[in-house]
Amino acid sequence: MSDRWIEVAPRVWALRVQELDQTLGLVIGDESCLVIDTGVSAEAGYAFATAIREKTDLPWQVAYTHDHFDHWFGTSAFGEAAIWAVGDGAQYIARGDEQRQAWAARYRREGREEKARDIARSKLVPPNCRVQGAVGLNLGGRTVVLRQAGLAHSDNDLVIEVPDAGVLFAGDLLENGAAPSYTGAFPYEWPQAVEYLLSWKPAVVVPGHGDPADYWWARAQVRDMAETARMCAEVAQGFLTEEEALAHSPFGEATMRAALDRCKELTPPPPPEPEAPAAKPQTPPPPVVVYDIFDYDIDLTR
Ligand SMILES: [Zn+2]
Repeated sequence: MSDRWIEVAPRVWALRVQELDQTLGLVIGDESCLVIDTGVSAEAGYAFATAIREKTDLPWQVAYTHDHFDHWFGTSAFGEAAIWAVGDGAQYIARGDEQRQAWAARYRREGREEKARDIARSKLVPPNCRVQGAVGLNLGGRTVVLRQAGLAHSDNDLVIEVPDAGVLFAGDLLENGAAPSYTGAFPYEWPQAVEYLLSWKPAVVVPGHGDPADYWWARAQVRDMAETARMCAEVAQGFLTEEEALAHSPFGEATMRAALDRCKELTPPPPPEPEAPAAKPQTPPPPVVVYDIFDYDIDLTR
Protein backbone atom coordinates (compact mmCIF):
# COMPACT_ATOMS: atom_id res chain seq x y z
CA MET A 1 0.00 0.00 0.00
CA SER A 2 1.38 3.41 -0.82
CA ASP A 3 0.30 6.76 0.57
CA ARG A 4 -3.10 7.87 -0.69
CA TRP A 5 -5.30 10.95 -0.51
CA ILE A 6 -8.88 10.94 0.73
CA GLU A 7 -11.03 14.03 0.14
CA VAL A 8 -13.09 14.03 3.32
CA ALA A 9 -15.01 17.18 2.34
CA PRO A 10 -14.65 19.73 -0.50
CA ARG A 11 -10.99 20.86 -0.52
CA VAL A 12 -10.34 19.13 2.82
CA TRP A 13 -7.90 16.26 2.42
CA ALA A 14 -6.42 13.50 4.53
CA LEU A 15 -3.25 11.78 3.36
CA ARG A 16 -3.11 8.20 4.58
CA VAL A 17 0.53 7.31 5.14
CA GLN A 18 1.81 3.77 5.34
CA GLU A 19 4.43 4.51 8.03
CA LEU A 20 2.77 4.18 11.47
CA ASP A 21 -0.60 4.17 9.66
CA GLN A 22 -0.46 7.91 10.02
CA THR A 23 -2.96 10.47 8.72
CA LEU A 24 -1.79 13.94 7.67
CA GLY A 25 -4.13 16.79 6.71
CA LEU A 26 -4.58 19.57 4.19
CA VAL A 27 -7.25 22.29 4.14
CA ILE A 28 -7.33 24.48 1.05
CA GLY A 29 -8.83 27.99 1.00
CA ASP A 30 -8.98 30.56 -1.81
CA GLU A 31 -5.74 32.27 -0.82
CA SER A 32 -3.71 29.84 1.27
CA CYS A 33 -3.75 26.36 2.67
CA LEU A 34 -3.15 24.77 6.05
CA VAL A 35 -0.93 21.70 6.42
CA ILE A 36 -1.73 19.55 9.45
CA ASP A 37 1.34 17.68 10.75
CA THR A 38 4.34 16.87 8.56
CA GLY A 39 5.34 13.22 9.12
CA VAL A 40 8.00 11.08 10.78
CA SER A 41 11.14 12.40 9.07
CA ALA A 42 12.50 14.91 6.58
CA GLU A 43 12.03 12.26 3.87
CA ALA A 44 8.38 11.82 4.79
CA GLY A 45 7.97 15.60 4.85
CA TYR A 46 9.36 15.96 1.32
CA ALA A 47 7.01 13.28 0.07
CA PHE A 48 4.08 15.08 1.75
CA ALA A 49 5.06 18.53 0.45
CA THR A 50 5.35 17.08 -3.07
CA ALA A 51 1.93 15.45 -2.78
CA ILE A 52 0.46 18.76 -1.59
CA ARG A 53 1.94 20.60 -4.58
CA GLU A 54 0.00 18.26 -6.84
CA LYS A 55 -3.19 19.50 -5.18
CA THR A 56 -2.47 23.22 -4.82
CA ASP A 57 0.25 25.81 -5.34
CA LEU A 58 -1.13 28.23 -2.72
CA PRO A 59 1.17 29.35 0.11
CA TRP A 60 0.96 27.18 3.19
CA GLN A 61 0.93 27.46 6.95
CA VAL A 62 1.55 24.47 9.19
CA ALA A 63 -0.19 23.27 12.38
CA TYR A 64 1.32 20.70 14.75
CA THR A 65 -1.28 18.61 16.59
CA HIS A 66 1.31 17.87 19.33
CA ASP A 67 5.02 17.39 19.91
CA HIS A 68 5.39 13.63 19.26
CA PHE A 69 8.07 13.14 16.62
CA ASP A 70 5.90 11.56 13.93
CA HIS A 71 3.79 14.71 13.73
CA TRP A 72 6.51 17.29 13.06
CA PHE A 73 9.88 15.82 12.00
CA GLY A 74 9.03 16.40 8.33
CA THR A 75 8.77 20.19 8.54
CA SER A 76 12.16 21.11 7.03
CA ALA A 77 10.58 20.33 3.63
CA PHE A 78 8.16 23.22 4.04
CA GLY A 79 10.71 26.06 4.22
CA GLU A 80 9.82 29.37 5.85
CA ALA A 81 6.26 29.16 7.10
CA ALA A 82 4.05 30.09 10.00
CA ILE A 83 3.96 27.04 12.23
CA TRP A 84 1.19 26.90 14.80
CA ALA A 85 1.32 24.82 17.99
CA VAL A 86 0.27 24.83 21.63
CA GLY A 87 3.74 23.94 22.98
CA ASP A 88 6.51 26.52 22.69
CA GLY A 89 9.63 26.19 20.57
CA ALA A 90 12.01 25.40 23.42
CA GLN A 91 9.79 22.55 24.60
CA TYR A 92 9.57 21.17 21.07
CA ILE A 93 13.34 21.22 20.61
CA ALA A 94 14.07 19.63 24.01
CA ARG A 95 11.53 16.85 23.58
CA GLY A 96 12.35 16.44 19.88
CA ASP A 97 15.99 15.77 20.63
CA GLU A 98 15.07 13.05 23.13
CA GLN A 99 12.61 11.46 20.74
CA ARG A 100 14.97 11.59 17.80
CA GLN A 101 17.51 9.48 19.70
CA ALA A 102 14.94 7.12 21.16
CA TRP A 103 13.10 6.48 17.89
CA ALA A 104 16.22 6.18 15.75
CA ALA A 105 17.43 3.53 18.22
CA ARG A 106 14.09 1.79 18.12
CA TYR A 107 13.98 1.63 14.30
CA ARG A 108 17.57 0.37 14.33
CA ARG A 109 16.64 -2.41 16.77
CA GLU A 110 13.85 -3.38 14.39
CA GLY A 111 16.44 -3.70 11.62
CA ARG A 112 15.17 -0.64 9.72
CA GLU A 113 18.48 1.13 9.36
CA GLU A 114 17.44 3.49 6.57
CA LYS A 115 14.39 4.77 8.45
CA ALA A 116 16.52 5.15 11.59
CA ARG A 117 18.97 7.33 9.66
CA ASP A 118 16.13 9.43 8.16
CA ILE A 119 14.87 10.18 11.64
CA ALA A 120 18.32 10.83 13.10
CA ARG A 121 19.18 13.43 10.47
CA SER A 122 15.81 15.20 10.35
CA LYS A 123 16.18 18.86 11.17
CA LEU A 124 13.93 19.93 14.01
CA VAL A 125 11.78 22.90 13.08
CA PRO A 126 10.10 24.33 16.18
CA PRO A 127 6.78 26.16 15.99
CA ASN A 128 6.83 29.96 15.71
CA CYS A 129 3.17 30.83 16.37
CA ARG A 130 1.56 29.93 19.64
CA VAL A 131 -2.04 28.83 20.14
CA GLN A 132 -3.55 29.41 23.55
CA GLY A 133 -7.29 28.86 23.69
CA ALA A 134 -8.35 29.14 20.05
CA VAL A 135 -7.21 30.94 16.90
CA GLY A 136 -9.29 31.48 13.75
CA LEU A 137 -7.22 31.33 10.56
CA ASN A 138 -8.73 32.83 7.44
CA LEU A 139 -7.48 30.84 4.46
CA GLY A 140 -9.54 32.95 2.02
CA GLY A 141 -13.22 32.09 1.71
CA ARG A 142 -13.01 29.72 4.65
CA THR A 143 -11.86 30.03 8.24
CA VAL A 144 -10.40 27.15 10.21
CA VAL A 145 -10.18 27.09 13.99
CA LEU A 146 -7.02 25.94 15.74
CA ARG A 147 -8.09 24.88 19.20
CA GLN A 148 -6.04 23.97 22.24
CA ALA A 149 -7.35 20.74 23.77
CA GLY A 150 -6.68 18.78 26.93
CA LEU A 151 -4.79 17.77 28.93
CA ALA A 152 -5.48 14.67 26.86
CA HIS A 153 -3.16 12.58 24.68
CA SER A 154 -0.33 14.96 25.61
CA ASP A 155 0.09 18.23 27.50
CA ASN A 156 0.06 20.25 24.26
CA ASP A 157 -2.74 18.93 22.07
CA LEU A 158 -4.11 21.03 19.23
CA VAL A 159 -7.09 20.14 17.05
CA ILE A 160 -8.22 21.79 13.83
CA GLU A 161 -11.86 22.46 13.07
CA VAL A 162 -13.17 23.21 9.58
CA PRO A 163 -16.67 24.40 10.49
CA ASP A 164 -17.94 25.03 6.94
CA ALA A 165 -17.11 21.44 6.01
CA GLY A 166 -18.02 19.78 9.33
CA VAL A 167 -14.54 18.31 9.73
CA LEU A 168 -12.50 17.86 12.91
CA PHE A 169 -8.81 16.96 12.69
CA ALA A 170 -8.34 15.36 16.10
CA GLY A 171 -4.63 14.54 16.13
CA ASP A 172 -3.86 11.57 18.37
CA LEU A 173 -6.82 12.34 20.64
CA LEU A 174 -8.46 9.63 18.56
CA GLU A 175 -6.98 6.70 16.66
CA ASN A 176 -8.81 4.47 14.23
CA GLY A 177 -7.78 0.85 13.92
CA ALA A 178 -5.51 1.11 16.96
CA ALA A 179 -5.99 1.82 20.64
CA PRO A 180 -5.32 5.35 21.90
CA SER A 181 -1.74 5.77 23.12
CA TYR A 182 -1.53 6.44 26.86
CA THR A 183 2.24 6.94 27.06
CA GLY A 184 2.69 10.47 28.42
CA ALA A 185 -1.11 10.95 28.36
CA PHE A 186 -3.66 12.12 30.94
CA PRO A 187 -6.10 9.21 31.32
CA TYR A 188 -8.56 10.99 33.62
CA GLU A 189 -8.84 14.27 31.68
CA TRP A 190 -8.67 12.86 28.15
CA PRO A 191 -12.31 11.64 27.69
CA GLN A 192 -13.77 14.96 28.80
CA ALA A 193 -11.52 16.85 26.41
CA VAL A 194 -12.78 14.76 23.48
CA GLU A 195 -16.41 15.03 24.55
CA TYR A 196 -16.07 18.80 24.53
CA LEU A 197 -14.56 18.73 21.03
CA LEU A 198 -17.39 16.55 19.75
CA SER A 199 -20.07 18.88 21.12
CA TRP A 200 -20.55 20.62 17.74
CA LYS A 201 -21.10 17.19 16.17
CA PRO A 202 -18.57 17.26 13.34
CA ALA A 203 -19.64 15.01 10.47
CA VAL A 204 -16.11 13.79 9.75
CA VAL A 205 -13.42 13.12 12.34
CA VAL A 206 -9.86 12.66 11.09
CA PRO A 207 -7.66 10.82 13.61
CA GLY A 208 -3.87 11.09 13.83
CA HIS A 209 -3.53 7.44 12.86
CA GLY A 210 -6.01 5.36 10.86
CA ASP A 211 -8.87 6.18 8.51
CA PRO A 212 -11.13 9.21 8.81
CA ALA A 213 -14.48 8.26 10.30
CA ASP A 214 -17.73 9.82 11.44
CA TYR A 215 -19.08 11.40 14.59
CA TRP A 216 -20.55 8.13 15.87
CA TRP A 217 -17.25 6.32 15.62
CA ALA A 218 -15.59 9.10 17.64
CA ARG A 219 -18.36 8.98 20.20
CA ALA A 220 -17.93 5.24 20.65
CA GLN A 221 -14.19 5.62 21.14
CA VAL A 222 -14.60 8.33 23.76
CA ARG A 223 -17.04 6.12 25.64
CA ASP A 224 -14.37 3.43 25.83
CA MET A 225 -11.85 6.02 26.99
CA ALA A 226 -14.23 7.10 29.75
CA GLU A 227 -14.59 3.45 30.80
CA THR A 228 -10.80 3.12 30.84
CA ALA A 229 -10.52 6.22 33.06
CA ARG A 230 -13.18 4.86 35.40
CA MET A 231 -11.37 1.53 35.73
CA CYS A 232 -8.09 3.33 36.46
CA ALA A 233 -9.81 5.32 39.21
CA GLU A 234 -11.43 2.21 40.67
CA VAL A 235 -8.08 0.41 40.75
CA ALA A 236 -6.55 3.43 42.49
CA GLN A 237 -9.36 3.35 45.07
CA GLY A 238 -9.19 -0.39 45.60
CA PHE A 239 -12.64 -1.22 44.15
CA LEU A 240 -11.10 -3.21 41.29
CA THR A 241 -7.94 -5.30 41.13
CA GLU A 242 -5.45 -4.63 38.37
CA GLU A 243 -6.18 -8.14 37.05
CA GLU A 244 -9.88 -7.33 36.72
CA ALA A 245 -9.14 -4.09 34.91
CA LEU A 246 -6.72 -5.81 32.54
CA ALA A 247 -9.20 -8.60 31.81
CA HIS A 248 -12.11 -6.26 31.06
CA SER A 249 -10.33 -3.35 29.40
CA PRO A 250 -12.24 -1.96 26.40
CA PHE A 251 -8.97 -1.45 24.49
CA GLY A 252 -7.24 -4.69 25.53
CA GLU A 253 -4.65 -5.57 28.10
CA ALA A 254 -1.61 -3.66 26.81
CA THR A 255 -3.50 -0.36 26.64
CA MET A 256 -4.95 -0.79 30.13
CA ARG A 257 -1.46 -1.60 31.44
CA ALA A 258 -0.16 1.63 29.90
CA ALA A 259 -3.08 3.64 31.32
CA LEU A 260 -2.64 2.18 34.83
CA ASP A 261 1.11 2.82 34.75
CA ARG A 262 0.55 6.38 33.60
CA CYS A 263 -1.97 7.02 36.40
CA LYS A 264 0.59 5.84 38.95
CA GLU A 265 3.19 8.09 37.39
CA LEU A 266 0.81 11.06 37.66
CA THR A 267 -0.32 10.37 41.21
CA PRO A 268 1.71 12.49 43.60
CA PRO A 269 3.35 10.50 46.41
CA PRO A 270 1.23 10.39 49.56
CA PRO A 271 1.92 13.22 51.99
CA PRO A 272 4.28 12.32 54.85
CA GLU A 273 2.63 10.90 57.94
CA PRO A 274 1.66 13.78 60.19
CA GLU A 275 3.78 13.88 63.30
CA ALA A 276 1.97 13.05 66.50
CA PRO A 277 0.90 16.37 68.01
CA ALA A 278 3.10 17.38 70.92
CA ALA A 279 1.39 16.80 74.24
CA LYS A 280 -0.19 20.05 75.35
CA PRO A 281 0.91 21.38 78.70
CA GLN A 282 -1.81 20.70 81.22
CA THR A 283 -3.45 23.96 82.18
CA PRO A 284 -5.86 23.85 85.07
CA PRO A 285 -9.50 24.34 84.08
CA PRO A 286 -10.95 27.80 84.77
CA PRO A 287 -12.62 28.05 88.15
CA VAL A 288 -16.34 27.44 88.17
CA VAL A 289 -18.32 30.30 89.55
CA VAL A 290 -21.58 29.41 91.21
CA TYR A 291 -24.07 32.17 91.82
CA ASP A 292 -26.55 31.69 94.53
CA ILE A 293 -29.92 33.00 93.40
CA PHE A 294 -30.73 33.95 96.96
CA ASP A 295 -27.94 36.52 96.84
CA TYR A 296 -30.38 38.87 95.06
CA ASP A 297 -33.11 40.64 96.79
CA ILE A 298 -35.12 42.96 94.58
CA ASP A 299 -37.80 44.91 96.25
CA LEU A 300 -40.43 45.66 93.57
CA THR A 301 -42.55 47.72 95.93
CA ARG A 302 -40.10 50.59 96.01
ZN1 LIG B 1 1.10 11.16 19.65
